[in-house]
Amino acid sequence: MMKLCTDSYINGQWVAGSQRLPVLNPATGHLLADVALADEAECDAAVRAASDAAADWAACAPRTRAEILRRAFELMTDSADELAQLITAENGKVLADARAEVAYAAEFFRWFSEEAVRVQGDYRLAPNGDKRIVTTHEPVGVSLLITPWNFPAAMATRKIAPALAAGCTVILKPAAETPLTALAIADLLDRAAVPAGVVNVVLPGDVGPAVKRMLDDPRVRNLSFTGSTEVGRILLHACADTVVRTSMELGGNAPFVVLAGADVEVAVEAAIVAKMRNGGAACTAANRFYVHRDLVESFTAALTRRMQSLVVGPGDRPGVQLGCLVSEKEREKVARLVQASIDEGARRTTNAAEHVTGAFYPPTVLAGVKADAAILRQEIFGPVAPIVSFDSEDEAVRLANDTEFGLIAYVLGPESTALRVAGRLEAGMVAVNRGVVSDPAASFGGMKQSGLGREGGFDGIHEFLETKYIAVNA
Ligand code: ADP
Repeated sequence: MMKLCTDSYINGQWVAGSQRLPVLNPATGHLLADVALADEAECDAAVRAASDAAADWAACAPRTRAEILRRAFELMTDSADELAQLITAENGKVLADARAEVAYAAEFFRWFSEEAVRVQGDYRLAPNGDKRIVTTHEPVGVSLLITPWNFPAAMATRKIAPALAAGCTVILKPAAETPLTALAIADLLDRAAVPAGVVNVVLPGDVGPAVKRMLDDPRVRNLSFTGSTEVGRILLHACADTVVRTSMELGGNAPFVVLAGADVEVAVEAAIVAKMRNGGAACTAANRFYVHRDLVESFTAALTRRMQSLVVGPGDRPGVQLGCLVSEKEREKVARLVQASIDEGARRTTNAAEHVTGAFYPPTVLAGVKADAAILRQEIFGPVAPIVSFDSEDEAVRLANDTEFGLIAYVLGPESTALRVAGRLEAGMVAVNRGVVSDPAASFGGMKQSGLGREGGFDGIHEFLETKYIAVNA
């Protein structure tokens, strides 16, 4: 049985602290648990613990680190059901999504257990022959990890696993909406025999000042953040003062482009996955649907039918395909965006019937959205698909790129055309004729204001490694 962990995890100890924060189930509004809020002294203790553990962990044989991560993968897989239930309880997503998240999250432990032993350097002769150029990689040091609520397990393991594989120690600051999953992962790592101080989890009450204080501490050398572009900008400024290294996974505003000649059935199935995975609460979620004029009517009708057929309800109920949003505040934000686009002339093609209580919002398709509508300028983070039509490939590319974001794009259509368009899109990731790209073995990350750096794949571990060049006489 997995135990419910509610205290801060500092230097291998559970610390109750003096203040607590209620965590609610967003589907029912019921209290799940009170978790510890870490005060200044506890955040300092987490930094000290991570710093004190850093040298031994960096010196630990890569194979030893790999085997601990492998054990974490196995423990996570063993408790997948319980972990999925916990995610559903505090986040609101349906169990199927929560199970998929746990499998994805565990995979980061397996992938980086394999990467831990494969960090390469090189040894070569300088062009003028005067010396050998030796290049090695060293752990960057104590890393602060800040994660959002939409994937409370996967965003944590996508950072913890490469950090530990690289030989870094960490302090994880989870989102206040979903701290229980992060604490469960800390417990799992404790059971996997991660040494005390290597992983610490704290949830400060006053996040901004507490994070700034940790970033100003000269022992903290690296920040890996996943969240909004708005908070990312604040953190980039904060990191400038002490030149803390940063990895930033920020917002997205993914275009979903259906080209002339696309198979509408394939496009709609991909759209359902790209839009509705996690109830639309993903930075990779398709946010803007650009459909060739010849297909827009049939695509809109088919997507409307599919969206309307989805069963909405509490995430833990069998057969439910769409749970609620993480909070009523999020629901209100989505409702406001939809109303604003209807006021601007868009047409809702799905039923307007809305659950009046809780954080539920119905699957919604908006047709005839204007290319400059407000809903196309920001992350919706909910089950809403706004559709815009276009006439030419150039127009589609221009519309798709007309955003400060550049995380992911989806292209549907005949393969050779789709590949050409993929090459023209300003996005760190492009899905061609499919609705999902995420894979721990592939580089995840964005261009433009969607972020800096990459997670997963062969790049992920390098976010936690410094390069050192040693010159040796030839
Ligand atoms: P989201 O919209 O997904 O909630 P946020 O960017 O608001 O994204 O939050 C992502 C993470 O950043 C959360 O853990 C949140 O607590 C944290 N956070 C929010 N504001 C700040 C801040 N000023 N400094 C540091 N972390 C912050």
